[in-house]
Amino acid sequence: MTVHKPAARSPLMSLDDALASLLGRVVPLSATESVATFDADRRVLAQDLVSALQVPPNDNSSMDGYAVRSADVTAPGVVLSVSQRIAAGHAAEPLRPGTCARIFTGAPMPEGADAVVMQEDTQDVGGNIHGVHIHAVPKPGQWVRRAGEDVARGAVVLPRGERLSPAGLGLAASLGLAHVPVVARPRVALFSTGDELVMPGEVPPQDMKPGAIYNSNRFFLRPLLQRLGCDVSDLGIVPDRREATLAALKTAADHHDLILTSGGVSVGEEDHIKPAVQQLGSLDLWQIGMKPGKPFAYGSVHRGASAAQPCHFIGLPGNPVSSFVTFVLLVRPFLLKLQGAPIPRLQPVMLPAHFTLARADKRREFLRVRRNAEGGLDLFPNQSSGVLTSAVWGDGLVDNPAGASIAHGDSVPYLSFAELLA
Ligand code: AMP
Ligand code: MG
Repeated sequence: MTVHKPAARSPLMSLDDALASLLGRVVPLSATESVATFDADRRVLAQDLVSALQVPPNDNSSMDGYAVRSADVTAPGVVLSVSQRIAAGHAAEPLRPGTCARIFTGAPMPEGADAVVMQEDTQDVGGNIHGVHIHAVPKPGQWVRRAGEDVARGAVVLPRGERLSPAGLGLAASLGLAHVPVVARPRVALFSTGDELVMPGEVPPQDMKPGAIYNSNRFFLRPLLQRLGCDVSDLGIVPDRREATLAALKTAADHHDLILTSGGVSVGEEDHIKPAVQQLGSLDLWQIGMKPGKPFAYGSVHRGASAAQPCHFIGLPGNPVSSFVTFVLLVRPFLLKLQGAPIPRLQPVMLPAHFTLARADKRREFLRVRRNAEGGLDLFPNQSSGVLTSAVWGDGLVDNPAGASIAHGDSVPYLSFAELLA
């Protein structure tokens, strides 16, 4: 009688090693394009933005009030006649000594004036004399915004690799840029695998066959990719058959930088991704020491002989929370590097656990938690990788080291979804 020994378990790969290995395979995209500044939110700059002008263009008032020569106001109560009125967007005459200029926020300072007295510190003389009492002695430079104090001419305002934010777009516009040079969008083909999957809208809940579930991963993976600036081709659900999987991969590889799939990367016999990718290129199946998200696949699919690079392949686990967490911790940095953006270091905040985790896991665990009103963290009661409610209820993850249990009140590293999904 032959005794079958159980296959030796391969050691788990650490998340840090998996990330380093993944990033090591990325060559940033070289294609660039010019897009309207209005449309450049979250895109990555392909060149430094250098200012051709200074912002603001000239010294101007930051208050409604009176522009003065500070030397003319030696004591409170001095009366100055008003020799001109300067509104924002209008030119100023040089300020005659011994007079002041009525001035409004954003209006250019008249030559000779070196300070502004806010109108609350003045009083009209009254009658038919056009003059004001100055009640407060101004310091030179008071309420004056200096030319170039925001941006100096020739300054690099935003560096290449910067992912543009709304404030960054405003800054680009303040330099007169209607268009900005950005890295081409990564072209990503997305598909889900699994014969149990049904698209919402196709079958009403009461008519779902036993074992059928709705495809939820597709609904968060697509927007996660789009938020990272990707141009997504959504190929829908690919049935659990070798031929269908091969056909989907072949078509996708030619026109995309990355094929991203969910499901089918475990080692069950219904998992067709592995042999199909291996037939068309190469694939590594990683068992990552993280929970959720242990099975993860990286590979590449060959394309036509003329293509310089093969198409990247990433296979995420099918369980929704595993798919979500591995996207955030691995695919997101991968896509940032593909666009030449710096990879942000995770910056956990230490917060008190208002829960206990008696049974430590062998793997580094990313617990779905939520900040509470007392400044502590509550734990979602069901941490199963199939329970997507945990990721909706939660506002972040506790990055809990392998083998560490948590006692009530322990300080634990918290990563907010706001930061992880930015
Ligand atoms: P797999 O990785 O294919 O073995 O799938 C693991 C688990 O995730 C199974 O319970 C699947 O039914 C489920 N699953 C796979 N893909 C999806 C999806 N797109 N949406 C929701 N659940 C999924
Ligand atoms: Mg499956």
